[in-house]
Amino acid sequence: MKIHEYQAKHLFKKYGIPVPKGDVAATPADAVHVAESIGGFPVVIKAQIHAGGRGKAGGVKLAQSLDEVRSIAEAIIGMNLVTHQTGPKGRNVKQVLVEQGQKIEKELYVSLIPDRETACIALIASQSGGMDIEEAASRDPEKIIKVYINPLHGIHPFQCRQAAYGLQLPSSLIGPFSQMLKNLYQLFVDDDCSLVEINPLIITSDQRLIALDAKINFDDNALFRHKDLTALRDLDEEDPLEVEASKYHLNYINMDGTVGNMVNGAGLAMAVMDTIKLAGAEPANFLDVGGGATAEMVENGFKVILSDPKVKGILINIFGGILRCDVLAKGVVEAARKINVHVPVIVRMEGTNVEEGRRILAESGLQLYTAVSMKDAGEKVASIIG
Ligand code: GDP
Ligand code: MN
Repeated sequence: MKIHEYQAKHLFKKYGIPVPKGDVAATPADAVHVAESIGGFPVVIKAQIHAGGRGKAGGVKLAQSLDEVRSIAEAIIGMNLVTHQTGPKGRNVKQVLVEQGQKIEKELYVSLIPDRETACIALIASQSGGMDIEEAASRDPEKIIKVYINPLHGIHPFQCRQAAYGLQLPSSLIGPFSQMLKNLYQLFVDDDCSLVEINPLIITSDQRLIALDAKINFDDNALFRHKDLTALRDLDEEDPLEVEASKYHLNYINMDGTVGNMVNGAGLAMAVMDTIKLAGAEPANFLDVGGGATAEMVENGFKVILSDPKVKGILINIFGGILRCDVLAKGVVEAARKINVHVPVIVRMEGTNVEEGRRILAESGLQLYTAVSMKDAGEKVASIIG
């Protein structure tokens, strides 16, 4: 789960990580109020969307007066902001963060992320933070500092110093930087984060460290024990079909192609998407109904796929193990009876109770195509939808 910058900064504040003075605003009048309470210029106005790259796309602006605050907020609130992270559709901006402007001497990069290879939490840092971090990382990968924190030990002072020396921080900042890292690590662990990123972490002209930007992602699988964090979810920032699918506990990701597919097991789903691409078509989604899916889950998955206007055909590929083929077939037939199936459906299934499953499908009166192998299924769906 992602949250907005202003929400991440509230959490930073709670953990003693310095952030600029400011607050979120949903209208230009609110933005002016916040600017008044900051008392001084410049102030920064920042579009709040769940994507980075706002600076380069015109979503971060400096204002030198209350009039400018109002006019910039008017321009940003309600705009459709397209950044390199939003995709071409962009995002509608509903709120802005209004903050005290900072005098920047240097922009650094700091993040924490789980590293599966070492089973550690990786602390990643760079001297070339800011808006060009991606280019800097690909140009000089050796300049990226990586420190691996064993979660059983927690973060050690020597690891903080290691990062501080790597960043060539002035000696006066090594203490505050180490404290900040300790706090950041505590936040990461307490809230079951999958990413905490500060880009840029700035050194101000009067030699203070401030988190100028803040990005936090949470591990969805741990959200059940963080009711307070779940309340920060902004459904408007998520794909409506994914929100719908999440209500049914379906593993669904919306994609750009035209072939909807429903599969049991994530590995099989990946293989089916490859098969669709090999046949010259593009998958419209990833959907793993899970090994132990019920007829109801199959029905809900089918409904979600059918409500996607991009979908021109559906490929169902089930290996009947715990989810038996007859259960799957009942789910498909139930769903098809309740909703108008306006696209061809190709079914390939194997495994437990496959004959019974085939019989249910054959006697349903539905217009279904059957396939004998994965390859056959991919080719059939590609040729039927053209
Ligand atoms: P992002 O582009 O979505 O990652 O948004 P950021 O919050 O990182 O802001 C983008 C850039 O705006 C930063 O890298 C800074 O260069 C600039 N910026 C943001 N806040 C300030 C500020 O208070 N003062 C100055 N001078 N620049 C700022
Ligand atoms: Mn940033």
